[in-house]
Amino acid sequence: MSDTAEETAAEQTPAEEPKEEYKQKIGAYICTGCDIGDSLDIEALEKAAAARKAEVVKTHEFLCSHEGVEMINSDINNEGVNTMVIAACSMRVNTDAFSWDPLHYITERVNLREQVVWTHEPNNENTQMMAEDQLRIGLARAAKTSRLEPAVTDLTRSVLVVGGGVTGLNTALESVAAGYDVILVEKEGQLGGWAARMRKVLPTTPPFTDIGPSDVSNKIEAVNASDRINVLLNAEITSTEGEPGQYKVTVSSNGSEETLDVGAIVLAAGWRPYEAEKLEHLGYGRIGSVVTNTQMEEIVAANDGRIVRPDGKTAKKVAFLQCAGQRDAEHLPYCSSVCCLTSLKQAVYVTESDKDAEAYIIYKDMRTPGLYESFYEAAQNNPGVMLTKGEVVSIEESGDGGVAVTIDNTMLGEKVVFEADMLVLAAGMVTNMLPEGKIVNDLTPDYVGEWKETETQDGIIKEVIADPHILKLKYRQGPEMPYLSYGFPDSHFVCFPYETRRTGIYAAGTVRAPMTSMQSEADAGGAALKAIQCLELAAQGKSVHPRVGDMTFPEINYTNCTQCRRCTVECPFGTLDEDEKGTPKTNTYRCRRCGVCMGACPQKIISFKDYSVPMIADAMKSVNVPEEDDKPRIICLICENDAYPSLDIAGINRLQLNPFYRFINLRCLGGTNLVWIADSLSAGVEGIMLIGCKHGDDYQCHFIKGSEMCSERLGKVQETLSRLMLEAERVKQVQLSINEWDQLPQMLDDFAEELKGFGPNPFKGF
Ligand code: SF4
Ligand code: SF4
Repeated sequence: MSDTAEETAAEQTPAEEPKEEYKQKIGAYICTGCDIGDSLDIEALEKAAAARKAEVVKTHEFLCSHEGVEMINSDINNEGVNTMVIAACSMRVNTDAFSWDPLHYITERVNLREQVVWTHEPNNENTQMMAEDQLRIGLARAAKTSRLEPAVTDLTRSVLVVGGGVTGLNTALESVAAGYDVILVEKEGQLGGWAARMRKVLPTTPPFTDIGPSDVSNKIEAVNASDRINVLLNAEITSTEGEPGQYKVTVSSNGSEETLDVGAIVLAAGWRPYEAEKLEHLGYGRIGSVVTNTQMEEIVAANDGRIVRPDGKTAKKVAFLQCAGQRDAEHLPYCSSVCCLTSLKQAVYVTESDKDAEAYIIYKDMRTPGLYESFYEAAQNNPGVMLTKGEVVSIEESGDGGVAVTIDNTMLGEKVVFEADMLVLAAGMVTNMLPEGKIVNDLTPDYVGEWKETETQDGIIKEVIADPHILKLKYRQGPEMPYLSYGFPDSHFVCFPYETRRTGIYAAGTVRAPMTSMQSEADAGGAALKAIQCLELAAQGKSVHPRVGDMTFPEINYTNCTQCRRCTVECPFGTLDEDEKGTPKTNTYRCRRCGVCMGACPQKIISFKDYSVPMIADAMKSVNVPEEDDKPRIICLICENDAYPSLDIAGINRLQLNPFYRFINLRCLGGTNLVWIADSLSAGVEGIMLIGCKHGDDYQCHFIKGSEMCSERLGKVQETLSRLMLEAERVKQVQLSINEWDQLPQMLDDFAEELKGFGPNPFKGF
């Protein structure tokens, strides 16, 4: 170990305190209800448990009942049992019944119900062998689990809100309403953002047909009046360091700089219009009377509702062109979702400006989701507003500085030319997460700034250099958050809105997706609650989503660290920093407890109290591998997020599964360590299947890149297996969504069949 590694180890290892003597005593409790007792030889199971060091072994016909749990409690109180292996139903059910204080007791669940008896033939030799193996796996896991020592310390309970527009104002007010102090940082000299510059906003109250003034001034007043909100205007964040509950954010504002203690951060940095200069083909910059929708807003606000062209002439006939550069691979490939509504609103501005004024909206599709459909209907009934479907053929200057728009594919089936005094382009929204000048359609879904490649002792590592422009994080993985497609920073649109890939930092409003100000207000409430949830969980030493409440965290045995930097690069959440030599430094409260670092570490020195490389290795070794060729054994590593519940659903639906698989659940396939693969195959198992979440553009991995990391690692193990004269195809990773549970029987049978084709594993019997 290098000096630096030693120093870091000393820094992170608390002084030894005398600990009470702790000796593990395992009790195995087998439920015989829910078909388990009728399908299995329970006596044989009891013997299998006793043979694996379970000092107390008991059965109960209804283990989750009050009497069943009391039987276990009695053993805890009278027999000194402190580790309970519950062989019954899925770990996803009856969590309240089988729940003991994790600081004092270890609980391990063995799924005999859904994974064994509900999916396999009752009273069958193969089913019995599977049940015994699954029980041994549970006992092996329990034996390798240590008692928790949670990381709890004093934390700051305040929320930093970045951005003073509608979203930021609402986040601040919601946080205060929940009892938390707020620091609100705004780069401009006043609060209110875009909403403060608009003449009117979209309908916000039933029947959602009329536009009206924004209430943003009331919100600004409420924020300024609150003694729990510290507003910093003309402010720029110059650095953000730390972790949830312990951030130190340095802000420069009005010529002075201060460092603030902050518990969590909500990024409400908003949006900016797409660069209109790139829309010359639609007349912008070429024809003086072509403006954008944001310019139209400014024109109306500056002229008290009159529509005045840039050349100073009044416009009475105004055309609007939807999807201007949007849903266009050359510009913004996505739909900004609010521009149709904005044009409908601005069309009302036109009709309100003069009783003879007319608005023409030319669209590919009108998109007015939800309650805004009523607003669309109201516009259809407005005699001054004409709506026409069509695609632009040309846009040219017409007489008197106006514009002629020729469209095709109209509902009339012929080309139509619209002459108007002015054309408004419905240009789209770009998230301010992207630095100015960053081109949206250059981004890959996993874009996180510029890439650089660094050569390490372990090969080339691809690293990111994101462009620092908002938070300026002092994180090893870069100064801003990684993006999803098009620069949005959410970590998972479907499952975890508001969450970014940096724990403790949440995104709200238009910085994370195009939306209206009404939607942004609702978003603000969601993000404020996420930030508060993070603070409160961190204060108890617990993890946030998806392993909410997990009190374990990665512990590194620095003695054997080779400073290879795999863990610091591969952590999907930027948890680990490192010193200049590459020694990792954990930031506990940033950690989501996925175990990706554990799988990444070639030295196998990262572990959790209840999850480690040796634990899973022992679980695998506890599978009996018979010598008979008609009893193959296949290890199936299953991700707890989608694959495990899929198996449960298969069980609930009584689908019949191949009996030769042995299931071992992982927090995420990203925790897979290659040593398990080599060990199991050399112990004679025929093959290994890994079932994880989908990755790629439409990824569903709850830990972002876990299942993808696993496939990358498997690329390497397959080379190793080829060298061992074992077929690389004996290891297979499959991607499964939770709703694809019905594919499991075929999936398992197909792989078992493929394995048969290779003949028996030559290591079998050794
Ligand atoms: S990889 Fe996962 S478990 Fe490891 S430090 Fe990062 S978030 Fe925590
Ligand atoms: S992956 Fe393991 S060996 Fe490499 S730096 Fe991290 S802890 Fe050290």
